[in-house]
Order: sequence, then structure tokens, then C-alpha cells
Amino acid sequence: MVTLASEPANYSVVGAQHGCAPSRHDFLCLCGVIYPSTMPIDNPTDRTLAELGITNNSEISALFATVREQFDHQLAAKTGSEPEYLALHHAWLGRKSGILSAITDNWLKSAPPALKPVVGQSLNELKRHVEGRMESFRVAAEKSAAEFAATREKIDLSLPGVSRPIGTHHLIRQVFQEIEDIFFSIGFSVVEGPEIETPYYNFEALNIPEHHPVRDDMDTFYLELPKGAPGPLLLRTHTSPVQIHTMEKRQPPVRVIVPGKVYRRDNPDATHSFMFHQIEGLAVDSDITFCDFTGTIDYFVKQFFGEGVKTRFRPSYFPFTEPSVEFDASCIFCGGSGTAKTGGTCSKCKGAGWIELFGAGMVDPAVYGFVNYDPKKVSGFAFGIGIDRLAMLKYGIDDIQVFFQNDVRFLRQFP
Ligand SMILES: [Zn+2]
Repeated sequence: MVTLASEPANYSVVGAQHGCAPSRHDFLCLCGVIYPSTMPIDNPTDRTLAELGITNNSEISALFATVREQFDHQLAAKTGSEPEYLALHHAWLGRKSGILSAITDNWLKSAPPALKPVVGQSLNELKRHVEGRMESFRVAAEKSAAEFAATREKIDLSLPGVSRPIGTHHLIRQVFQEIEDIFFSIGFSVVEGPEIETPYYNFEALNIPEHHPVRDDMDTFYLELPKGAPGPLLLRTHTSPVQIHTMEKRQPPVRVIVPGKVYRRDNPDATHSFMFHQIEGLAVDSDITFCDFTGTIDYFVKQFFGEGVKTRFRPSYFPFTEPSVEFDASCIFCGGSGTAKTGGTCSKCKGAGWIELFGAGMVDPAVYGFVNYDPKKVSGFAFGIGIDRLAMLKYGIDDIQVFFQNDVRFLRQFP
């Protein structure tokens, strides 16, 4: 007879004799039988009653009681999850390899006629017991799975939300916008042009022939082109080529501003960068005078820096304007006095009281010749504003490089 009730001192994990895996808790085969390691590993439900040496009703009752006890023992060790339910269901109620099927095949069908009624009755009781408990287990497992899912999906409105930082315009873009708005208000519109240009548009059509000395200052990056490609091509050194593109396409009146990037072969330092930003301005019409020109610039400077700022211009030279001027503004840091608020010389204007802003002038009549305008009938002015320089002046920034370093500690100061 096989003793199942007492737990041996040494027992081994029994593999899947019924297709079930060993329990992780109790070192029992899921079929419910503990085997001492010294005992040949077999399973009572795989053997007939005769092979087990069972000959009377009380032994049958004891055998079924042991099986039932093992089932209860295994069930009690479960935490109630759905996978556990499925594994236990498979082990006990599996149609082919379940323990109850094995008992039916090996104990009931081959039972001697005298024992058959009690085996059948015990098996039915065991079956009802297992099925009843398993049904409760199933309901509990489903409920716990639903509760877990509900907890996971539940939205807790009291939790702080996920804050996604919202980007802002770069200071350069903000200054562009500010300047564009000022010129929009007096009838200018925005046009854009290519950053890659031919020398014709960048130089020649702007009255800068090939050996003109001003080309040295504007030496730039030429593109390496494939063999046989028409060229040369270069990165524009100013936004002025768009003046030519615009006048080629439009007849006067023309009132445009041209924001964009420009390139020069400068070594980076606090005031130089190989790439920076300009806004070109161009106004051409039949009756534009030098007064219109200076009035427009004065209006812009006052709008941008404040009403209290004065402007002045000094004679200068640009190949594509005649006459050419440099515009200055009264120093916005010392109010034009040349003396710092803390005493001593103002470091921004070096005591001069004036700060250079940008170059401008009346469009050279020679330029009109390149775009088929009649210089006798039209006149106009052009200016080229360095955006980076203006932004540095207005916001007190002393190094142009910070615009391009993408340091958020700097960028955050201009939300
Ligand atoms: Zn000053």
C-alpha cells in the first residue's frame, strides 16, 4: 500500500507525470503526491487499485480522502491569479491528462465489481468537490484580474499632470519679427531669396565688379560643384542679392524687406560669426527722396529702441548706394551722454554717446541698369541691418556666439 498522508523527510520534485509542473511552493507534483527521494517515482493514479494493493471500501475511502486533502492543500497555496487557476484546472480537470481522468481510467474502470460502486461514489464526490472549488477559484481569479486592470487604468485626477515644456522663438527670430512688424506698419512687405547665389547676383549686379576691393571684405564660401556643372556658386555675403531678384520681377513701386542668413569667412569671436542675420530693405518709386530715406530710418530706430533715441548719419561708401551713409543711434546705455550711470566713461559707446547701427544709402543708379529700371524715372533707398548686432545692443548681450550655442540657460531668458 502507498502511504500518502505523511510527509517524508526527503522528497523530490516530481515532474509532469500528468503533464503538470511541480508546484513552486511545496515541492509537490501538481498531481498532489509527495515522493521521498528514495522511493521509486511513480504515481498512484497511474496504477490500478489492484496494483496499489487496495482491496476494501475503507482503503478506498482513505485513498480518496488523501487525494482530496492534496487538492485542498494545493488550492490553499495559490494566491488566486488567473495563470494559477489555469494550471491547477489543467492538472486536476484536464480532459486527457487531468488527475480525475486518470482516476476514472485506472481506478474506476478496472475496479473489481464489488468495489466499483464505492469507487464511483467517491470519485463523484471528489469531482464535485474539485469542480466546486475550482469554480470559486475561477470567479475569484477573474475578479482579481478585473480589479487589477481597473486599478491600472484608473485615472487619478489628483496626480499632477505631465508638463511638456513649450518652446519659444529664438531671440534672433523674435527680433526679426519685431523689425518686420515695424516695417509692415509703414507699407513694406517681406520677400525671401536663396542663400546660395551666383557671383552675378551677390556682386556684379550690385555694382561690385570682379576686381573691386570691397570683395576682399566679403570673401565667402564657394561651393564645390560636380565637374561640368555651371558655376561658381557661393553662400551669399549679404541679403542685397534679393534686391536684384525683386527688381527683376517687379516694376516700381517696390517696398520690401528681406530677412535671412548671410555668410562671411570670419573667424568666430565676440562680434564675428561666419553666419549671421540681416534684414535688407529696399524702397524704389518715382519720387523717393533722401528725406524719405532718413525719415524712414529714424522712424524705425525710434520704434525699435524707443522714442528718446536720436539718429544721425555719416557719409560712407557702399558700391551699390550713392550717396552711402552709416546710421548711428544715440547710445541707449548712457542716453547719449557718453558717461556711464555709475560714473566714468560709458563702455558701450566708449564715451562717444553714439553707437553705429548699420549702413544704408540711396540706390546707385548703376544698379537700375542691371534690372531694366530707368534711373531717370525712379529713385530709392536701401539698407542692410545686422540683426545679431541690433539684438545684442537692445538686450545688452556682449557675445554673438551665445546666439548659436543653444544653451537653454541663455535662451530661457527670452521666453
Ligand atoms: Zn554710451
